[in-house]
Amino acid sequence: MGDIPDVTFEGMEAANRIVADVLELLEKKVKPGVSTVRLDKIAEQYIRDQGGIPAFKGYRGYPATITTSINDQIVHGIPSDEQKIQPGDLVSIDVGCELNGCYGDSALTVGVEPLEPAAQKLMKITRESLYKGIAKARVGNRLGAIGASIEAHVVPYGFSVVKEWAGHFIGDEMHLDPQIPNYGPADWGPELEPGMYLAIEPMVNIGSYKSEVLADGWTVVTKDGSLSAHFEHSIAVTESGPKILSRRKNEVLM
Ligand code: MG
Ligand code: MG
Repeated sequence: MGDIPDVTFEGMEAANRIVADVLELLEKKVKPGVSTVRLDKIAEQYIRDQGGIPAFKGYRGYPATITTSINDQIVHGIPSDEQKIQPGDLVSIDVGCELNGCYGDSALTVGVEPLEPAAQKLMKITRESLYKGIAKARVGNRLGAIGASIEAHVVPYGFSVVKEWAGHFIGDEMHLDPQIPNYGPADWGPELEPGMYLAIEPMVNIGSYKSEVLADGWTVVTKDGSLSAHFEHSIAVTESGPKILSRRKNEVLM
């Protein structure tokens, strides 16, 4: 539990640089009428041009480079030619990349105007909760401090944190144990140490926390059909505090 992977900080930084740049690029491409397959193709091309390997593609048979999860889809939506982005959509994009044996993983939710005020608020609070979680990724804290902080930020707004899906350690594989739940007590789990890399990823619903997987075997949706948002960063635990490896160049921290 809580292993320190055999990777370098520079290696992890380089893999996550690609992931961050892909999301910055895709953020601008999310517009009404654009198909999610189009976004997927842009992402794959970019990653390969940088010498990286799309980490999701082929993972347990997953067919694409990114996941695109719209509105009541929480995570793991499969890009499709038929799926065109509509005005008012909340589009969550998740991307993973391998570079020289190191993994990057990051996600964001993009809102397409005109957005309902509730959707706007959900996005803002979910993004804030990611930074709240990251702030707890400090040497000496226990792992549970991250999820506790995320949950404490989200719940007062009447939103709920998805419980069946979680963040994870990352390094020389995309998903390393243990999982990082977005809820629960702060005094739970291993103590955080320098050299650990964490993918912290709150998934937040406007309605109930309950989710289900669609018949495609991948797409996770809210059971009550309510909107969901998802933000993720890969970070390094260091002596001088958490370092966000997948920070986008245009990203303003909250
Ligand atoms: Mg991810
Ligand atoms: Mg992840």
